[in-house]
Amino acid sequence: MSQDERVSVFETAAAQFDRAAELIGLDDETQLLLKTPFREMKVELPIRRDDGSLGVWQGYRVQFNGSRGPFKGGIRYHHDVDMDEVRGLSTLMAWKTALVDIPFGGGKGGITVNVKELSVYELERLTRKFIARIGHILGPYRDVPAPDVNTNAQVMAWIFDEYSSRHGYAPACVTGKPLAMGGSPGREAATGRGAVMVFEEVAKREGWDPKTMTVAIQGFGNVGSFAARFIMELGVKVVAISGSRGAYFNGDGIDIEAAVAHRKETGTLEGLGGVEQITNEELLALDVDILLPAALGGAIHAGNAPNVKARVILEAANAPATEEGENILVEGGNVMLIPDVLASSGGVTVSYFEWVQNIQQFGWDEGRVNNELGKIMSRATSEVYELAEEKQMSLRTAAFILAIERIAEAERLRGL
Ligand code: GLU
Repeated sequence: MSQDERVSVFETAAAQFDRAAELIGLDDETQLLLKTPFREMKVELPIRRDDGSLGVWQGYRVQFNGSRGPFKGGIRYHHDVDMDEVRGLSTLMAWKTALVDIPFGGGKGGITVNVKELSVYELERLTRKFIARIGHILGPYRDVPAPDVNTNAQVMAWIFDEYSSRHGYAPACVTGKPLAMGGSPGREAATGRGAVMVFEEVAKREGWDPKTMTVAIQGFGNVGSFAARFIMELGVKVVAISGSRGAYFNGDGIDIEAAVAHRKETGTLEGLGGVEQITNEELLALDVDILLPAALGGAIHAGNAPNVKARVILEAANAPATEEGENILVEGGNVMLIPDVLASSGGVTVSYFEWVQNIQQFGWDEGRVNNELGKIMSRATSEVYELAEEKQMSLRTAAFILAIERIAEAERLRGL
């Protein structure tokens, strides 16, 4: 998609907000308060390349709403990152944290960079420079970053180190850290696991039998690969997965462990055995029960939504469908769309557990983490599902209403 065709993430999120706010008759002043970002920061990031030359990148952090707690949200490294995208994703974080009812607000950050063009040393210098420039607005009780697209536990370790070298030992300043540095067991798998827990709860209520269902997973990074493993454990057959260079199909089911191992070894899914190569667009149009987008935003749009045959869309990615795309999907009323603010909230929920463990300086075992995650996912899903049923509205609108009401109440209580 060219730059001109890209749909604004912030506009998509704002349209979703408007729909819910109107339905509950939210007053104009509260609407304005809830739609306006608290703080937006853009910084230049000059570093020395390995060859001694100068490279300059742009970094962003948007703190959208902090009425319920410290701003919370990931940092993404991608060549498409811009202020609009970071702002849009920061709003989604605010709704997500409120929906699962953890004591955080919403924020997001990013650097406009193609990570494939940087060495690991350059990536470290860039990360440290970013934290040097935005560190004064971060902190365990101010704003707590985490991983997102193209960032991982190693990047979080650099953030922790850079922040702590200025402010003193503060493991709770960032989540998604390596286990050896105060990370939480279960954090890496949490977004994928949470998405599948949400699906399981919906399936139970709808009376679906996962063992008879098939899924196509778009994106096989952290979220997609873990979601694949967990949904398979429920008995759902994973018939397609995709990477950045193409998609792969096997009607009898893909060997997920082999795919994970192949990607780990070669850095790509290309050359994976026992699958037929298809295009990403063909994957989206497969005749499957579930479509699980786990890659970038805007993957389902007006151009390809009419081809989607799946009747369940499990949004493990942030904003995977544009507003127009979603309208087309749900038009006939046969599609159940399980929205990102719910389906992708497992990651930030375990980030909350990590933050709690860091503050208490008391670690949990993985069983406890997954058990607490299960309780939160199932409670949030039930609340959304029941409100949607009662008021005959989409799961997305119900999720937004629950989140908006919680944030609006906190705003009211705090006052101006
Ligand atoms: N980047 C993840 C998300 O979009 C996790 C955020 C976090 O853990 O703070 O939900």
